[in-house]
Amino acid sequence: MIKRDVENIFRKGNNFLLASHLNPDGDAVGSLLGLGLTLRELGKNVTITSPHPVPRTFSFLPGYELIQEPGNLNSLTFDVGVVLDCTEVERTGKETEGLLKNCNTLLNIDHHVSNTNFGNLNLVDTDAAATGELIFEILEEMGVPITPEIATNLYVAIVTDTGSFQHQNTTARCHRNAASLLGLGAAHARAYQLLYEERSLKSMRLLEKCLRTLSVSEDGLVAWMAVPQKYLIETGCGIEECEDLVNYPKSISGVEVGILFKQVSNNEVKVSFRSKSYVDVNSLAASFGGGGHERAAGCTVHGTLKDVERRVLAATVNFLLDAKGATST
Ligand code: 5GP
Ligand code: MN
Repeated sequence: MIKRDVENIFRKGNNFLLASHLNPDGDAVGSLLGLGLTLRELGKNVTITSPHPVPRTFSFLPGYELIQEPGNLNSLTFDVGVVLDCTEVERTGKETEGLLKNCNTLLNIDHHVSNTNFGNLNLVDTDAAATGELIFEILEEMGVPITPEIATNLYVAIVTDTGSFQHQNTTARCHRNAASLLGLGAAHARAYQLLYEERSLKSMRLLEKCLRTLSVSEDGLVAWMAVPQKYLIETGCGIEECEDLVNYPKSISGVEVGILFKQVSNNEVKVSFRSKSYVDVNSLAASFGGGGHERAAGCTVHGTLKDVERRVLAATVNFLLDAKGATST
């Protein structure tokens, strides 16, 4: 039913503003471009914006050059704002939030459990592996032509959010959708190579340094790693080059929760949580003002790196105790 309403808005709207979250990932970028290119094919005026620069890794995606900084858009007006893969409108960034407030219709399409239903119309499907998957299903139902360029973007959204079909959110449904996208000409081999086999040497040097910070709790259930700002400076890496580092602590045998602490500035740390089977890290991240999914979530915490590590680890240990208590009753 809601999907029908979304289709109607896509058909009837004229001037669209498409936005996603801070630190855009593959699902954010793939969804923005997959939908953006389709709406353009339908003859709509489409503006695509990102509050932070899109990592170079995604520069091979068709339409990458269409993504604009919100600061350049103040003179434009839009009838429809579409927010993709974003739990709350604040996560689009201050400038974009202002532009979205002036839209007649605000559409919220997402798959996070922590979504706040901030739109006039909210299509939030927490069973979807990626927002890109939801976009694909809508476009397919609309019967609009899906070019190989559009298919590549939506395929990358699914591949990146499922960790190449390895995470728990991988379903028969998302494999079927991915298969359809391959049938439509998604450039899967090229995407794999450019996403996963083009690591910079400096990011390997960063990994080497960060691995030395790897620690495991006494009971072996929590493992964590840190990226102090000085490592970024010493290796010449940007913060976006830490994207997959959280998988190292998580991958240790017996570990349930993997945590990565990225020092953004002297007083700010971006924390990533991943869990393997029973800890709801979305709730854990929410206790620090963040959110995400049950098995992958994040938050930003203010304080020194050491202080944030101490506070977050203490909260995680307590959280684990509660989770274990809940499973044993
Ligand atoms: P990551 O750890 O890779 O940055 O994010 C994991 C998941 O949690 C993603 O789905 C991301 O959108 C979400 N997430 C990360 N940081 C935050 C945050 O500060 N607030 C909210 N609401 N979600 C976040
Ligand atoms: Mn997503």
